Amino acid sequence: MLTPLPFAPLAMTSGASFQLRDKFLMRRPLVAANWKMHGSRDFLEAYFGKLKGSLPDVEVAVFPPFVYLNQAVAACAGNVAVGAQNLSSAAQGAFTGEVSARMLVDVGCRYAIVGHSERRALYGETCQVVAEKFAMARDVGLIPVLCVGESLDDRDAGRTLDVVRDQLRAVVDKVGLAAVTAAVIAYEPVWAIGTGKTATPEEAQEVHRAIRDILGGDGLANAAEKTRILYGGSVKQDNARALFSQPDIDGGLIGGAALDIEEFLAICESAEAN
Ligand code: PEP
Repeated sequence: MLTPLPFAPLAMTSGASFQLRDKFLMRRPLVAANWKMHGSRDFLEAYFGKLKGSLPDVEVAVFPPFVYLNQAVAACAGNVAVGAQNLSSAAQGAFTGEVSARMLVDVGCRYAIVGHSERRALYGETCQVVAEKFAMARDVGLIPVLCVGESLDDRDAGRTLDVVRDQLRAVVDKVGLAAVTAAVIAYEPVWAIGTGKTATPEEAQEVHRAIRDILGGDGLANAAEKTRILYGGSVKQDNARALFSQPDIDGGLIGGAALDIEEFLAICESAEAN
């Protein structure tokens, strides 16, 4: 059990099936493929070829490396959106190697991931930088996918909710709570990313519910019930359904398993209302 948050949870509807029906009425599931630094032109062509077939009734988003965004937008159809894995915190200028939010819109992106744990850990992105990137994305009409999540040490020390709350607060301080509530949040425990370890559905649900409660502060409870909160961290076809059937888990941000299109499609099917 995690340390309780210093605010009252929203009233829960009674009965799991009732909650699930409510959930799908309010939030269309989103399943996102984060390719990280993988792929090629041929891989993309084959991948999107499969996505053009009959897709489950969920929103699918693909996040290839920058250099393939143009090709992805040209190849995608219908239910599939394209997003970037990162963006610059600057609008434009002498920032060699960076890609701006406006450029992402220009090539047809709908989403941009901000604050992925690999960016935080490997590239030193602080909560402040993440907040700036979030603001930049939002200013040009991109939908930020804001990643939050605790390390194993944090979890073992009972600090999971404190860490997640601090990561959210940095962005809220920059753009306001309503803007964060209007984005997509991805809860990705760092210890579960690429490790084969997954949070149990109950562990993940507890954090997702806490995030929704935070987003619903300041009278935004109704808006927060519409926020899609994705789970990420070693999601595979054999654990996806149990995770996605939790009342506050609205799909997934999928890394390794998304590189296999058949597995990714099976994961998408698990997110469909049933
Ligand atoms: C990710 O990169 O966001 C991720 C969740 O990776 P994986 O599914 O491989 O754990």
